[in-house]
Amino acid sequence: MNENKITLKIDGLEVNAKEGSTILETALSNNIYIPNLCYYPGLEPWGSCRLCMVENDDGRLVTACETLVNDGMNIVTDNVRINRVRKLSAELLIANHEVDCLTCRKNDNCKLQEISSYLGINKDDLGSLRRQINNISMDDSNPFFDRDLKKCILCGICVRTCNELLGVKAIDFGFRGYDTKITTFGDRPLVDSSCVSCGECVVACPVGALVHKEALKPAREVKTVCPFCGVGCNIYLGVRGDQVISARGDVQNSVNKGNLCVKGRYGFKFINHPNRLTKPLIKRNNVFEEVEWDEALDYVARKLSEIKSEEFAAISSARCPNEDNYAVQKFTRAVMGTNNVDNCARSCHAPSVAGLAKIFGSGAMSNSIDEIKDSACLFVIGTNPTASYPVIGLRIVEAVKNGAKLIVVDPRNIDICKHADIVLNQIPGTDVALLMGMMKIIVDEDLTDEKFIEERCDNYNDFKESLKEYDLKTVESITGVNKELIVKAAKLYASTKPASILYSLGITEHTHGTENVFALGNLALLTGNMGKPSTGVNPIRGQNNVQGACDMGCLPDVFPGYQKVEDPETIHRFEKAYNVELTSSKGLMFPEMLEAALKGDVKAMYIVGENPVTSEPDTDNIKKSLRNLDFLIVQDIFMSETAMMADVVLPGCSFAEKDGTFANSERRVQRVRKAIEPVGESKPDWLITCQIAQKMGAEGFEFKDASDMYNEIAEVAPIFGGINYNRIDEVGIQWPCMDEHDKGTPILHTQTFKTENGRGRFIPLKYRPSAELPDKEYPLLLTTGRSIYHYQTSTMTGAVEGLKTLYGEDYIDMCQEDASKIGVMNDEKVKVISRRGEIKPKVRITETCFSGVVFMTFHFSESATNILTNSALDPISKTPEFKVCAVRVEKI
Ligand code: SF4
Ligand code: SF4
Ligand code: SF4
Repeated sequence: MNENKITLKIDGLEVNAKEGSTILETALSNNIYIPNLCYYPGLEPWGSCRLCMVENDDGRLVTACETLVNDGMNIVTDNVRINRVRKLSAELLIANHEVDCLTCRKNDNCKLQEISSYLGINKDDLGSLRRQINNISMDDSNPFFDRDLKKCILCGICVRTCNELLGVKAIDFGFRGYDTKITTFGDRPLVDSSCVSCGECVVACPVGALVHKEALKPAREVKTVCPFCGVGCNIYLGVRGDQVISARGDVQNSVNKGNLCVKGRYGFKFINHPNRLTKPLIKRNNVFEEVEWDEALDYVARKLSEIKSEEFAAISSARCPNEDNYAVQKFTRAVMGTNNVDNCARSCHAPSVAGLAKIFGSGAMSNSIDEIKDSACLFVIGTNPTASYPVIGLRIVEAVKNGAKLIVVDPRNIDICKHADIVLNQIPGTDVALLMGMMKIIVDEDLTDEKFIEERCDNYNDFKESLKEYDLKTVESITGVNKELIVKAAKLYASTKPASILYSLGITEHTHGTENVFALGNLALLTGNMGKPSTGVNPIRGQNNVQGACDMGCLPDVFPGYQKVEDPETIHRFEKAYNVELTSSKGLMFPEMLEAALKGDVKAMYIVGENPVTSEPDTDNIKKSLRNLDFLIVQDIFMSETAMMADVVLPGCSFAEKDGTFANSERRVQRVRKAIEPVGESKPDWLITCQIAQKMGAEGFEFKDASDMYNEIAEVAPIFGGINYNRIDEVGIQWPCMDEHDKGTPILHTQTFKTENGRGRFIPLKYRPSAELPDKEYPLLLTTGRSIYHYQTSTMTGAVEGLKTLYGEDYIDMCQEDASKIGVMNDEKVKVISRRGEIKPKVRITETCFSGVVFMTFHFSESATNILTNSALDPISKTPEFKVCAVRVEKI
């Protein structure tokens, strides 16, 4: 279809336009300036500033931002009559505006200045209009930006951004007449409102009413990728000297289209933090001593040379680029001679890798982030997108705005529920029963996609048989969800296409995490929602490069590109490529490594960019295992709780100081670029690993730079065969990408599945309860999750003062009913006790939690939530059950 099929004239110039676009959009896209203040791309037209008045064919004045183009239209944008009207509107705005342009942080980038200059407004024009400037004091309560209503022009862009784009609705117009102002609920400071500090309104504000606190402008900007969650937002880091001073979203990029959350926009201060590790450290007599790199590397190489293959284990980093991860797996396999390498996906998405691989043949997100907005139905289960993956949260809100139906399944009333058509609040850990119940309805009501099942799937009859015991009464009693709602949700999902499933750790971090993933795979197969745009089963990754760490083979059973270590042909190819003999025995998964360390079977561990002491369940047990090692090397950018236990600490450098690539949740390999020199004497992590290997006499670690290493990755792993730094210079590519002509794969499984016979495989399932359920002694069920303000164990975000101001400690969330039973109030400290230990957080009474279920984040070592959590494992993936453990809460 020809999108530009409308032709019209603007000021006598013939231009083409897209059907459905406005006069203003058409003019601006053809480089014709029409003054405007209340227009903002992506927001609904508002028509309040009256500055975009133009003359149409019959001489009427119309607002260009609200009037759609017509074929053959003749528009005049600039004449005396039009500018008289515009001038009056602009003069009224300026007359009520505190003008101090020279010291205003918006100077040079202000739309009011631009309009004033375009219309030729001068002081004399304003004299008769000037009235008292309002006397509202500045709201500087937010740590990252200021709100100065003396400069507000009431264009409403901030209100609309907050409502339409985010769905947060933290601000609105308040009061009336001359007293109208943008305000929060109850006219409280922003920091006490529901604002999530994303800064989107600050970026959109056309004047100086909302401005970032950081006043300096960068001397240069470097395009790279956000180092926090798995959305993989593209950013420009602003640099002055050796300091990173700003970040802004890349508007051109399809992943985030300029949007960022609070961490991506304001969370960069950790990079130049004074507590960064800047020199290698060796622990002697229990005290760390700074040493030179040579001494540290010699020491590490000597100690590791004394270790037998099976006595060594490595944990690689989901925070670090692919190249760092590749180096760790190559070192572990080619130098240490073992497959004992794993990464923190073990604690999060290993069930996705195992589960999806069994059903579909590939354990990654099947579709792309940009497709979410076009889904007709979104099934969001076990994920809190607005807190954990905020830019995906925006896409879900956008989809709803576009008319999508939204079904949310979560044990808590999380934020995204307010946009949902149906909310199912299940008892944590009962997902298999709930999903089987839904699928039974779909089968019973003939809502299955028989053609798809027939043509593309196996094992349907066995699966159907396993549905029998999931009658609605049983499912309701197991899950606690009203049966009518289950029916409604099942019918809505099955009959509204295309439908997409989005999930994350609420599904995987269970002793039956892989079975939960199987259930979601079954659901998508049953309704034919696979292999098409805006469908699929989509695990959203929590850490920026957890996808990449797995892709790079930092898993005990696969080489880079998911090539099995037990496959003789694969081993042979890697032996040839690495020029060493390799083992085909699967290595240990992370929990098995810890167990082996406790028994003394694993004696040395190399942990890169992870902090298991705080991130893993049953903290005391983790510490015991690490203490039992003969030799622990930790490579990190801060002295984490795990680094404190190390024998040697090696200072790696942050994402801003090195080149490389991250793979985001949608399998997109994107460039990470060095913005500043490494802080202190820190080094890129891949280089440190390679230097240890070289000190140990190994060959094959002489990489010129990160790009050189990526070329080797592309050679040994066919699914990345067509990716190199040049091809992804501007836009990342989604694997599989087999050769230089392959544009990558936005949607998996379009024709066949990646299983051996190319068919999807239904898996019969039986519900198993969680390992530890509430009882008399521990009557509450604790489930854990993330805060929008922090990342993992907050080693990075905890070094950003503003983020700590907004969220500085872990609370225990509970409903009023449970709080009253214990007799505690908001902000009161309590003792939370599980079978494994106790902690003392403050209480936060919330409507998000239901009676019997309490919630905590796990970001801070001070409260160390994981002292409480259960280390019981999913038998297939060995992922711990972070999401369910029994606790007792006591008043102190
Ligand atoms: S908002 Fe614009 S017009 Fe107002 S003081 Fe700032 S730069 Fe000047
Ligand atoms: S910072 Fe974000 S959440 Fe806060 S008011 Fe602005 S748009 Fe709304
Ligand atoms: S944390 Fe995630 S959503 Fe936020 S800016 Fe970074 S990548 Fe985007």
